[in-house]
Amino acid sequence: MNDLLPDQSPVWQYFERQVRALMGRYGYLEIRTPILEQTALFKRSIGEVTDIVEKEMYTFEDRNGDSLTLRPEGTAAVVRAAMENGLLHNQTQRLWYTGPMFRHERPQKGRYRQFHQVGVETFGMDGPDIDVETILLSARLWQQLGLMEHVTLELNSLGSNEARAAYREKLVAYFEQYADTLDEDAKRRLHSNPLRILDSKNPDMADVIAAAPQLLDHLDNESREHFDKLKALLDAAGIDYVVNPRLVRGLDYYNRTVFEWTTTALGSQGTVCAGGRYDGLVEQLGGKPTTAVGFAMGVERLVLLLETLELVPADVNHTLDAYIMAFGDAAEREALLLGEQLRSALPQLRLQVHCGGGSFKSQVKKADKSGATLALILGEDELTRGSVGLKYLRETRDQEELDRSALIEHLTSHLSRIA
Ligand code: ATP
Ligand code: MG
Repeated sequence: MNDLLPDQSPVWQYFERQVRALMGRYGYLEIRTPILEQTALFKRSIGEVTDIVEKEMYTFEDRNGDSLTLRPEGTAAVVRAAMENGLLHNQTQRLWYTGPMFRHERPQKGRYRQFHQVGVETFGMDGPDIDVETILLSARLWQQLGLMEHVTLELNSLGSNEARAAYREKLVAYFEQYADTLDEDAKRRLHSNPLRILDSKNPDMADVIAAAPQLLDHLDNESREHFDKLKALLDAAGIDYVVNPRLVRGLDYYNRTVFEWTTTALGSQGTVCAGGRYDGLVEQLGGKPTTAVGFAMGVERLVLLLETLELVPADVNHTLDAYIMAFGDAAEREALLLGEQLRSALPQLRLQVHCGGGSFKSQVKKADKSGATLALILGEDELTRGSVGLKYLRETRDQEELDRSALIEHLTSHLSRIA
């Protein structure tokens, strides 16, 4: 679990600003749910025989003896909240969320025990138009961030529950022929959750998995039609994709459309966004049958990708415009007041007033370190003359002295020049 330090938060805020604005542009509304839920919610939705529920959840008993779990993902909680609050009754919903998720995994680059996701969940629309909308929304984010040429969209269809059940029998029969090559996880899952074996990253099983029967060849007609329409819509929108018949996703609630955006720039932690359709989940959790589709993206991986590819705009780390220095009691008092005056007059100005006194040399050092482009100087002389000294911190330009009344105008033009 990581601390997010002040030198990293500007990139996160840049990413979050882009996301928030984007969601607004598609008419998605934000939902915030608690970080804790009843353990049973995750077991019932994600599935008992999944990596998350078998070995990754942070689960504990509270003082009443209730079993609670730090949320490992967002979908289950959003469905619970939407059901409890009547958001799914005779209406459609387009929701988004962001926040920390918790999984007890082996920490490594791009994989942490507390990580952050941005996700969307939509309800009450059968698709494939809404499936495509969620993909277009994510694609627009990649475009805005400059990531589009570095990510690939992988698609698959898991079909209906019935088609999957029939396929499952074929798959079990196939894998039973190769029992020797299966690893421990795969053996354990052969009868409880054989589709998950397709998801294995074990290179020793790669050949057997590659030759396994494919779900895409066993789809029911409606799912086949849904998938064909989905691909046609993506073609029309100019979104490239790769059909990956082995894409099954690590959670049990998906049916029909599943997709992942992957990158080769982050080593084995290559999936930056993943989602799909989960038409059965609301009913499974006790609600009326409600179709649904959504995705979740990993914020740490996306920030890492932006940094690795040097796609963070330079001005993201520029967090201050001006720094006021003051020398002597009277000037220090005046500096605080001037700071407030300037903030009232220029709401876009990012200004810090030096606190704690010190020599000219030490204050200039702090001003320089602050990243500001301009230092305003208030000493005894300036006070008597009703003026302010101006020192340009990022250009070779002589110090100036300005009448207080001309200051706001000067700062305005300085701001527009550096913007
Ligand atoms: P993976 O196969 O990488 O374990 P997953 O299938 O478990 O991913 P999801 O549950 O679909 O992942 O979560 C969606 C996204 O959240 C992932 O694509 C990834 O970007 C991010 N993510 C998942 N687990 C972690 C983690 N432990 N640390 C950082 N990001 C994560
Ligand atoms: Mg995982």
